[in-house]
Amino acid sequence: MTDAIERAVECETCGDSGWERRECTGDQACGRRRRHLPHLYVVVCECRPINRTFQEKQERRRAA
Ligand SMILES: [Zn+2]
Ligand SMILES: [Zn+2]
Repeated sequence: MTDAIERAVECETCGDSGWERRECTGDQACGRRRRHLPHLYVVVCECRPINRTFQEKQERRRAA
């Protein structure tokens, strides 16, 4: 059997990676106090405890 149809992602926020990509505008969004240049950063996605796809990936990584 081939997986012709891709399984839709459970969490569109992180694409089931467990990491949510966010854009920091240079204010305190990322946790830094001083002003700085805009940049991208990641935070742990809230779906982790309930996202099965993510959990399966984690299991596979641990088993490898
Ligand atoms: Zn997520
Ligand atoms: Zn920042």
